[in-house]
Amino acid sequence: MSVFSHPEFNQHEQVNFFHDEATGLKAIVAIHNSNRGPALGGCRMWNYASDEDALTDALRLSKGMTYKSALANLDLGGGKSVIIGDPRQHKTEALLEMMGRCLESLSGRYIAAEDSGTSVADLKVMGRHTQYVAGITEHTGIDGQPSNGDPSPATAYGTFIGLKAAVKHRLGRDDLNGLSVAIQGVGNVGYRLAEHLRAAGAKLYVTDIHQDQVDKAVNLLGATAVQADEILSLDVDILAPCALGAILNDDSIPAIKATVIAGAANNQLASARHDLMLKERGILYAPDFAINAGGIIDIFYDRVGHSPEKVSRHIETIAETLDEIFRRSDATGTPCGMIANTLAEERFLKKITV
Ligand code: NAD
Repeated sequence: MSVFSHPEFNQHEQVNFFHDEATGLKAIVAIHNSNRGPALGGCRMWNYASDEDALTDALRLSKGMTYKSALANLDLGGGKSVIIGDPRQHKTEALLEMMGRCLESLSGRYIAAEDSGTSVADLKVMGRHTQYVAGITEHTGIDGQPSNGDPSPATAYGTFIGLKAAVKHRLGRDDLNGLSVAIQGVGNVGYRLAEHLRAAGAKLYVTDIHQDQVDKAVNLLGATAVQADEILSLDVDILAPCALGAILNDDSIPAIKATVIAGAANNQLASARHDLMLKERGILYAPDFAINAGGIIDIFYDRVGHSPEKVSRHIETIAETLDEIFRRSDATGTPCGMIANTLAEERFLKKITV
């Protein structure tokens, strides 16, 4: 398995392979770039079909974290860890403790947060042997509610702020009153986004593969339920993808009627060329890794000292970042996703010196 010639290798600073026979731990920790600070990113546990797939995920996702944190103006670099194994079968306390020891051996160059296949409880077990885990402190969330580290309220708030910035830019409006929004996926983030939108007077259309989630949005927020295959092409002002990746593709883009796309889902573009397709259709796309940064901002403050006011203020800067992306895109004709990449690179390629 090659690393330096791997297609996802992109000037990564450090790639670590950990193995422990006694606990069965097999893990990869990839540090993409630490110019802005320690590399923070989720620790994913997944039953990868091959070690190669695990490396691909670690390389790709760690790079994504560098871009996301830089765009969010956080003093953090980008990293990701993957534990190879089925979380339902292979996750044991001993394995998690060993992962903690492995993280500690990196002396803080990488800090782990929860991800698919790991929970806050798992991170706390790792934390018995390392100080380099994040998002596990009980604190008051930005919604004023007690939080055990779930970043979803912060992600939803950031997405709401970013959606408003996109509406202002594309539709020239400061308010959302009477505007229609189609939300794909009303889970942890999508439902909370729906609450913000409802409070701002928007008309909601929702879909989810879990009927109880849809029923809740209909009954408590007055949303209209639509079929899963209708949501992307609905005749609405704004489309908010909050479920899956790769939903902006050759099939969906020609049928989209919304003029603004602003949602929390990761990796919404099926490929880079779909960025251009949206631009050519006159649809304003708020790049996912810019608009959904509320969660990583929340986790960052877990390390440096939480205060709901400070976190909220930082999250609100997502609007300024998006505004800069939109304005540069208008001025140059370059699609928003590409501009977001360039802006992130401007922010992380220059090493911060204190
Ligand atoms: P979640 O699992 O709580 O919610 C996703 C919802 O989408 C679920 O209710 C699920 O049933 C629904 N769904 C799945 N497939 C669907 C389909 N085909 N059609 C309609 N609905 C479907 O996850 P979440 O934490 O709310 O995250 C939502 C998205 O935002 C994900 O892409 C996630 O990666 C991204 N994101 C989340 C956070 C966070 O803080 N939770 C941060 C950044 C990005």
